[in-house]
Amino acid sequence: MDHFLKKIVNLCKRRGFVFPSSEIYGGFESCYDYGFLGTLLINNIKQEWWKSMTQYRDDVVGLDASILMAPQVWKASGHLTAGFSDALVECKKCHHRFRLDYLSENKCPDCGGELTPEKKFNLMMKTFVGSAENEAAVTFLRGETCQGIYMNYRSLRDSLRLKVPFGIAQIGKAFRNEISPRYFIFKTREFEQMEMQYFVSPQPEKKDQWFNYWKEERLNWYLGLGVKKENLRFRKHAEDELAHYAQKALDLEYKFPWGWDEIEGIHDRGDWDLSNHSRHSGQDLSYLDPQTNERFIPHVIETSAGVARSFLVFMAEAYTEIEGGRTVTTKSNKEKEVFLSFDPRLAPIKIAILPLSKKEPLVNLAREIQKKLRQNWMTQYDQSSSIGRRYRRQDEIGTPYCLTVDFDSLEDKKVTVRSRDTMQQERIEISQLVDFFRKKMNSAEN
Ligand code: ATP
Repeated sequence: MDHFLKKIVNLCKRRGFVFPSSEIYGGFESCYDYGFLGTLLINNIKQEWWKSMTQYRDDVVGLDASILMAPQVWKASGHLTAGFSDALVECKKCHHRFRLDYLSENKCPDCGGELTPEKKFNLMMKTFVGSAENEAAVTFLRGETCQGIYMNYRSLRDSLRLKVPFGIAQIGKAFRNEISPRYFIFKTREFEQMEMQYFVSPQPEKKDQWFNYWKEERLNWYLGLGVKKENLRFRKHAEDELAHYAQKALDLEYKFPWGWDEIEGIHDRGDWDLSNHSRHSGQDLSYLDPQTNERFIPHVIETSAGVARSFLVFMAEAYTEIEGGRTVTTKSNKEKEVFLSFDPRLAPIKIAILPLSKKEPLVNLAREIQKKLRQNWMTQYDQSSSIGRRYRRQDEIGTPYCLTVDFDSLEDKKVTVRSRDTMQQERIEISQLVDFFRKKMNSAEN
C-alpha cells in the first residue's frame, strides 16, 4: 500500500474514524465500519452536500427511496445485462481473479501464471425477498441510487408542482459486486452515493448549458470546502468507455496518493432511464411544458459522487505532518506532529473544552460552558494529561478550536480560545462565545 495512504489508514484506525468490518473474525473483504469520529465526518460531508443541493437553491428537492425495488427496475435500466458488467480474468495457476482493465500485462500479477480469456461479470448483488428462495423472489440491492429517483420523478414532480428544469437529490447506499475492491474505502462493494438527477429539456444547447453548469458547481463544492485546485481535474470519457446509459460523461478526478482517480461522475444520461421505464411499465413519464406546450421525456444531467471517496479526499487534503512538532514547549517536541486541517464545517469535533486543572471550580465552569456550546456544536471535554498533549490530541482529529478554562476565568469571566491552524490564542468573554464561534464555524475564512 502506498506510504501516504498507509498513514491515513493508520490514523483512521488509531483515532476511531474507520475500522475493518467484523474485525474479531479477521475482517470481511472490502467492508468497513465508521467509528464515532468517522461517522461525524461522514455526516458533515453529507450535510454540506445536501444543503448545497436542497437548501441553498430552489430548483432541487430531496428524496430517500427504498434500497430494495421491484426487479423490473433493473431490467428496464439495463443493469442486468452486459452494460453493468466488468471484464473478469482468472489466473489458471493461483485462481486469483482480476478486473481486466486494471492489469498492465497478460500475466497474473500475483504469481505470473497464465490468465483465462475474459468473461463478463455482472456487478448487481442478488438477494431474495420473502421466504421462497426461487427465481420469482429474486431482486437486487440497488447498484446506483438514482434509479430510486426515476421511480419517484413523476410523484415528486406532481406533488410539488415542479417545472422542468428541476432536480432530485438523494444520499444512500448502493451495492456492487466489484471484482477488485481496492485502496481502503475507495472502492468497496457496499458504498454510499450522493446523487442528483437534473431533469432538462432535450434541446441540445440547453442540455449542454446545464451539463457545463453542474460541472462547475460540483468542482466549486470541493474547492469551497478547502480542496486545492491543483489536486482536482476533469477527465472526459472516450466513446468506448461510456456507461450504457451515458451520452456524455466526465469524471471529476482527485490526485490520490496512488495517482489521479475518480471521485465523482457528471453524466448526460439523455432520456435513457425515463424512456426505458416508460416502455417497460407502460406508464406515461412525459412532461408537458406549460410555456411551449411541447410534450417530451425530460433528459437527465446527473452528478454522482461517492461519500467514502469524498471522505478520503478531505482526509488526504487535511493531513499535515510537521517534523519536530509545532508546540516546542512540550517534552515530545522531537516527534512528528500530525494535524488535520479540516474546514470547520467538516471537522468532527468543533470545540474542545479543556480545564487547566481538575479542581472543582474550574471543572464546573468548563462543564457549564460546554453545556451552552453543545446546543450548537459537537464538543469534546478533556481534562486528562498536560495541556500540550490535549492540544495535540485535538489537532490530530482536526478540531478547529480548543477552549481552555483557567483560574483567571473565574475572575475575569474570559477563556482562552486557541486556533488549530495558527495556534494563536485569544481571550474571549464567556458571554460572547456563541457569537464568536458562530462567525468562525460557517466559513473557511477564519
Ligand atoms: P469506477 O470506474 O471507479 O468503478 P464508476 O465509473 O463505475 O466507478 P459511477 O457508476 O460513475 O462509478 O458511480 C458514481 C460514483 O459513485 C463514483 O464516482 C464513486 O464516487 C462512487 N462509486 C462507484 N462505485 C464505487 C465503489 N465500488 N466504491 C465506492 N464508491 C463508488
